[in-house]
Amino acid sequence: MTRSHGAPHWRDKALFTPGPLTTSRTVKQAMLRDLGSRDAEFISVVADVRRRLLNIAGADPEAYTAIPMQGSGTFGLEAVLSSAVPRDGKVLVLVNGAYGRRLAEMATVLGIGVSTLEWPENRPAEPAEVQKALAGDSSISHVILVHCETTSGLMNPVEEVGRIVADAGRTYFVDAMSSFGAVPLSMPESRIDYLVSSANKCIEGVPGFSFAIARLEPLLACEGVARSLSLDLLAQHRGLESNGQFRFTPPTHSILAFHQALLELEAEGGVEGRMRRYQANHRLLLEGMRAMGFREYVDVDHQGWIITTFHYPDDPSFDFDRFYDHLSSGGHVIYPGKVGTADCFRIGSIGRLDAADMRGLLSAIDDALKAMGVSLAPAKGTLKAGLD
Ligand SMILES: *Cc1c(COP(=O)(O)O)cnc(C)c1O
Repeated sequence: MTRSHGAPHWRDKALFTPGPLTTSRTVKQAMLRDLGSRDAEFISVVADVRRRLLNIAGADPEAYTAIPMQGSGTFGLEAVLSSAVPRDGKVLVLVNGAYGRRLAEMATVLGIGVSTLEWPENRPAEPAEVQKALAGDSSISHVILVHCETTSGLMNPVEEVGRIVADAGRTYFVDAMSSFGAVPLSMPESRIDYLVSSANKCIEGVPGFSFAIARLEPLLACEGVARSLSLDLLAQHRGLESNGQFRFTPPTHSILAFHQALLELEAEGGVEGRMRRYQANHRLLLEGMRAMGFREYVDVDHQGWIITTFHYPDDPSFDFDRFYDHLSSGGHVIYPGKVGTADCFRIGSIGRLDAADMRGLLSAIDDALKAMGVSLAPAKGTLKAGLD
């Protein structure tokens, strides 16, 4: 597929990144409106967005609430952390990548007591170690897990950890930023009290806001806890419940785009349908990269279909900056990123991308290797059973 750049074309470079992502033309077109933030039409769009989010999370509106929050995903995480953990609370953050580390840092900045359990960036969190940590420290009130660690693409055992956290009577907070909408997840079954994701990941909207889905019982007990006025999750919930409105200027255009993105998610067959497209993208990518001799960083058993990390080829002629520029100038934006001590780069399978995009990328990668004079021996390996 040829793409032209510079002028405002509907189709820009394809984004093989963790977000913002390539979005559909119709999602972008949904923003060509100027709606008043207090107008009935906008209020009804917000209500429908909230209802659809609960539905995706398998969450009963009697027991859960969906709370959009201005700002990127990190703002949503900070809203939950700063609003849900009481002064005498303490969080246990399960860390195996940059996003887990950021959550621990966020707690420190907020003056919240924090301890961490850490694993290498290509190893999932160990539920048994979480159980031991909770048994050994009764002051831990909240456990925080990153569902898909976007640093590497690794999936953490969200349901197993949830059972342990619930059995220990603690509150469970999941960063599902890069998985929500593309990996089936039921909040009640995974015993999740708070979940956060954002507009510009697997729902395929544009940046501008994040959202928390909260179980009402713990949320309503958070009176007086908030450490921030604008990020006060309970106040945001109360505002939306009382008059359907945001407390402060909402990202109206971004919400309109997101509403359209939710309709397109439904048309694609919901989370299952989207998952199938992303899995097919991931599988094409993995097969093609292996055939060229690349090795992936995360073991197949722990690898999700959201984003895949590859080692630099073991060839001195490989120069990442040249590789990146070659791909970008051909219309393919990949994502740099060192993982642990390994030199790696990442390729996302998410956003409005399909098999033709993946094949286009693979052939551009082949060209880039040839241009640099890199030669690799094809790698061996088996694909994840579920993808065959
Ligand atoms: C994208 C992402 C975030 C939030 O990033 P923002 O840049 O603030 O939107 C947080 N956690 C994970 C796992 C992510 O993938």
